[in-house]
Amino acid sequence: MTKGLKMLYEGKAKKIYETADPELLLVHYKDDATAFNGLKKGSIRDKGYYNNQISAIFFKMLATRGVSNHFVELTGEREMLVKNLEIVPVEVVVRNIAAGSLAKRLGKSEGTKLPFPVLEFYYKDDELGDPMINRYHIKALELASPKEMDTIEEMALKINEILLAYLKPLGLELVDFKLEFGRHQGEIMLGDEISPDTCRFWDAKTHEKLDKDRFRRDLGKVEEAYQEILKRLKGEKTDV
Ligand code: UDP
Repeated sequence: MTKGLKMLYEGKAKKIYETADPELLLVHYKDDATAFNGLKKGSIRDKGYYNNQISAIFFKMLATRGVSNHFVELTGEREMLVKNLEIVPVEVVVRNIAAGSLAKRLGKSEGTKLPFPVLEFYYKDDELGDPMINRYHIKALELASPKEMDTIEEMALKINEILLAYLKPLGLELVDFKLEFGRHQGEIMLGDEISPDTCRFWDAKTHEKLDKDRFRRDLGKVEEAYQEILKRLKGEKTDV
């Protein structure tokens, strides 16, 4: 599908192509995997396929629940058509359970349930290593207006509620996840991806990690974790 199309951008996990319609882009999900700001590099077999399919399921489900997002349609096993957003360079992290950088920074043991969801913002800048910022920085750097940030916060918390309710019957705990937003025809929309690369999913019973931490921490059974998430989302019989 990407044959003959001009590639606009190649990121760590995705390639973005122009289409004949300037309002639409084609996203190709790669198998390449990186962690720790690109210091650890590798590849996860069929990750591109899993993340594309998983993201499509989440985006479609969120749209039916009133969350505007960039997803248009799947165009291949590893490709989706999306709306062309002007990305807000702020990564929004939502946390329900302490893990990863929060566990380290605040001295909470991994797995401690947070009584309220925690929102964090990171400045999307590879050279700076995506530093954590707050709403004052966002305003002063003019990354987004306060009104846009109100919308983004409200959407992020709503998405968290929807995902928690959706994943619970599938036996999945949503520990934390990262979202990106953008502007499209004057509206703030959810963009990027929602996948085991950008979320921490734990099995509700065994607390087994079913996400990119298996790659980050060399836990083995990496492909199996991505496959398991897709299976559960599709309602198929699971191995775990
Ligand atoms: N995350 C992400 N991209 C990043 C950094 C974090 O998708 O560049 C996701 C990560 O997968 C996790 C959540 O955001 O679900 C919180 O990550 P954390 O700050 O704990 O950092 P990590 O331990 O993943 O480096």
